[in-house]
Amino acid sequence: MPIATVNPATGETTKTFDALTPDEVERRLAAADDAYRQYRLTGFHHRAHLLERAADLLEEDIDPVARTMTLEMGKPVKAARAEAAKCVKAMRWYAAHAEALLADEEPARADVEDSGATRARVHYRPIGVVLAVMPWNFPLWQVVRFAAPALMAGNVGLLKHASNVPQTALYLEELFRRAGFPEGCFQTLLVGSAAVEGILRDPRVAAATLTGSEPAGRAVASVAGDEVKKTVLELGGSDPYLVLSGAEVDRAAATAVTARVQNNGQSCIAAKRFIVHTDVHDAFRERFVAGMRELTVGDPMSEDTDVGPLASEQGRKDLEELVDDAVAKGATVLCGGRRPERLDSGWYYEPTVLTDITEAMRIHREEAFGPVATLYRVDSLDEALTLANDSPFGLSSNVWTRDEDEMARCVRDLQAGGVFINGMTASHPGLPFGGAKRSGYGRELAGHGIREFCNPTTVWYG
Ligand code: NDP
Repeated sequence: MPIATVNPATGETTKTFDALTPDEVERRLAAADDAYRQYRLTGFHHRAHLLERAADLLEEDIDPVARTMTLEMGKPVKAARAEAAKCVKAMRWYAAHAEALLADEEPARADVEDSGATRARVHYRPIGVVLAVMPWNFPLWQVVRFAAPALMAGNVGLLKHASNVPQTALYLEELFRRAGFPEGCFQTLLVGSAAVEGILRDPRVAAATLTGSEPAGRAVASVAGDEVKKTVLELGGSDPYLVLSGAEVDRAAATAVTARVQNNGQSCIAAKRFIVHTDVHDAFRERFVAGMRELTVGDPMSEDTDVGPLASEQGRKDLEELVDDAVAKGATVLCGGRRPERLDSGWYYEPTVLTDITEAMRIHREEAFGPVATLYRVDSLDEALTLANDSPFGLSSNVWTRDEDEMARCVRDLQAGGVFINGMTASHPGLPFGGAKRSGYGRELAGHGIREFCNPTTVWYG
């Protein structure tokens, strides 16, 4: 894949970049290693000052960086601004909380004595250079949610960003440099995916985090496993959205539209499978389909646009194949199901709802990475849970009900890293984020996220 900015709204290549040569990669690895030796000795107060400065600079840059993201991957510019603002918030959150999250832990007195110690502690130390392999769908946020905790923990970062967002990737390197982080603390490596293995095998790299597809995750985790290096994987999702008997249908349907089409439908935590109890199914379907039809599809730079183009021609092709496969096997198209006729350039696809889904259809088990929803009718909570769990993925899940017992059943039985009740899944710096099953492992954000790339060191005093 060439390293280039290709405008998804027009298909035009606006800028290309040469990949780093092996010598240039080597220089950056050496710089990261050097930086870590010094940076790990800095204190929380100093790191927080730098990260707050990065947050301030990003806040000043929200408009231009949002336009860069929209140019590179097609998200509506208002959503791009919201993404940048969320990054500012996450940086400030980690600047404020990291020290407390990584405070020494004291084991129980009885255990300390039983171990023969006079006192004991668990002390969180950084682990070194962390490689981040990141995707294009939230090109700032995915990186910042790794970088903010990593830098606060005393680690340094190497970013291998997706090849279609090079300008956002370079902006991030520049942002941390301007904020005053020492040379080598956060570097962007403009390289293709084939270069990742060599970088990850380098002894100066301690660990890796990857957000993206299952094949990419498997490739990186295999190499890391071979090298016995820690990984965190945040892969795809096909999140269920359960609307149970007695749910607030109007709100559930309005939220369902946003939950499905956010980021032009290209979000791992977007709700994708809408599983609705027969008591409320018809009312939900009517409102949901009406909401999907009302969306404004068009130029992502326009303030009025709800849904822009897909990020790549291949992405649209993959989505079309999933829809065509379902339709050929008997799915009913309630809206969309094709490219918008009035938009003849760019990789647009109409917001789509499919029903009459069967197990034979690929979309029943595969992730639809675009504005395509599948709608199922169920007769009971048991049936809803069985269907929800009938997926290789387990990222997050959504439940609409007013019944406390149903809520408790869903929390107990949904196979997912999150259960969002009467709302849609959204990440927040203070809430751990990650998946189960083939959606990956490990957690980002909150205390769980910052501790993933730490060495929790047991300190025992005789
Ligand atoms: P990829 O998973 O291919 O790309 C994500 C990142 O991984 C990019 O930086 C990519 O680099 C890198 N990468 C890809 N293959 C390898 C490899 N073998 N070894 C090391 N690094 C690798 O995502 P795509 O853009 O191809 O999207 C395909 C599908 O992935 C989507 O349709 C969706 O299902 C899923 N996806 C999920 C995301 C999520 O948020 N969970 C985000 C993006 C995609 P390069 O760009 O140079 O190939």
